[in-house]
Amino acid sequence: MSYRALYRVFRPQTFSEVRGQNHISTTLKNAIVTERLAHAYLFCGPRGTGKTSSAKILAKAVNCLDLQNGEPCNQCANCKAINEENFLDVLEIDAASNRGIDEIRDLRDKVRFAPSQGKRKVYIIDEVHMLTNEAFNALLKTLEEPPAHVLFILATTEPQKIPLTILSRCQRFDFRKINTAEIADHLAEIVKEEGVSISDDALNAIARKAAGGMRDAISVLDQCIAFAGSRIELHHVELVLGTVSEEATASLIDAVLQQDYSQLFLLLHDFMQQGKDIKQILRDCIQYARQLLLLKVAPNEKLVELSPDSIGKAKEQAQALQVEFLGRMINRLTAAEKDLRYSNQPQILLEAAFVDLMIQGMEPVAAEPAAAVSNKSRKPSAQAEKPDAKPVQKLIASEELLQQWADVMMQIKGKSIKLHAFLNDVKPASFQNGELILRFGQQYGFHHKMVNQEENIRIISQVVTQLTGQPVKVSVELENEDGYIKQELTLVDEAKKLFGDIPIEII
Ligand SMILES: [Zn+2]
Repeated sequence: MSYRALYRVFRPQTFSEVRGQNHISTTLKNAIVTERLAHAYLFCGPRGTGKTSSAKILAKAVNCLDLQNGEPCNQCANCKAINEENFLDVLEIDAASNRGIDEIRDLRDKVRFAPSQGKRKVYIIDEVHMLTNEAFNALLKTLEEPPAHVLFILATTEPQKIPLTILSRCQRFDFRKINTAEIADHLAEIVKEEGVSISDDALNAIARKAAGGMRDAISVLDQCIAFAGSRIELHHVELVLGTVSEEATASLIDAVLQQDYSQLFLLLHDFMQQGKDIKQILRDCIQYARQLLLLKVAPNEKLVELSPDSIGKAKEQAQALQVEFLGRMINRLTAAEKDLRYSNQPQILLEAAFVDLMIQGMEPVAAEPAAAVSNKSRKPSAQAEKPDAKPVQKLIASEELLQQWADVMMQIKGKSIKLHAFLNDVKPASFQNGELILRFGQQYGFHHKMVNQEENIRIISQVVTQLTGQPVKVSVELENEDGYIKQELTLVDEAKKLFGDIPIEII
């Protein structure tokens, strides 16, 4: 017998076999039993949550010759023919493959004819949001006056792309993501039937990775069986998925926590050596950071999805990290993941994201007093020079600085009222990697020139350095006629600084 993908073998054949969508199955069964079916249904929801399976079950139920409490019998000639995709009155259209133009035209021409084989003609239109406008219009005409013998089932992952005129003529069902426990449960049944043994953590790793989609989960299980044979362990799953283990991710977070750059680069290097995909590394780290955040703010076992082996370590890390830092981490890594598509140096992008996080500063709560003590003992002179040592030690992030700009301005006013006035019409454009960029609109050329004087730059830099606790370079930029930003400190200015106003020639 030829090989059949597991998700086909274990495709649900009745409503009660559809996982995680009881609210829909029950309503449909009732409608069938009480003969109150609508003419058109719209099944919405994420991929692999049972939309197409439910559509086929419904198609069988309306044609079944021996209906069992609203469920198809799967034994009669009609049920069997539909299961074998051999039934003339159930037509499946995949709008994604050719945008449905010919099929919908054909549908419009033939929809009037009575069913040839069964009781009802069923049109299942998958990924219906992909239809062209022309096809939607043709469909709409049919939906406006549907013949009594026709049932439409439209399925989509993106209901927001469907015209309102179509939506308003369908009864809508929203399929939800299937929760991890339900997926794990179903996978356990499948492996049992397939005579495969799988460790709990491997099973849960697949279920978590599927993120609510049963079909994806079963496909991954299928790949794991092909790869590992009849005994599947966690490391097989990690290899098949190309994911980074929770243990390795935890070590990475440790390196960030301890500001251990060497360890950080070594770990990232190892991931590369193991052939991990950079996108996957970022995703796994984002996912892990999310788990830490949950442990911190919503430590509910319904929400936290970590393997029992990892949870102890993760709790320790969550304890040591601030909510704000975890939020920043998720944002920074997500931004890096987005930037990947524009980068031909993805590894550097990955490293830079982590280095950024380490530089921008993170305060392990537990480590705070210790850091203060060690600073004191190591650099007593620095401490004496700066009576404001406490705020100086606080490292703050760019978005914080931008929020605290009013404070910066207050302090600048205390040092130079003139500079404060020139800065009134400027907004800090960015503050990253120790560089603060101030950007002037083109009508503020004069302000820009005044601020861009050595003494003034020094004052701004001093104030921001005090506030952020890190050395800060200040740059000013001026918008020109084309709207582009150019650096105004020219070679001539540099030369003037060196030589004064002596006439010089620049070669
Ligand atoms: Zn039947």
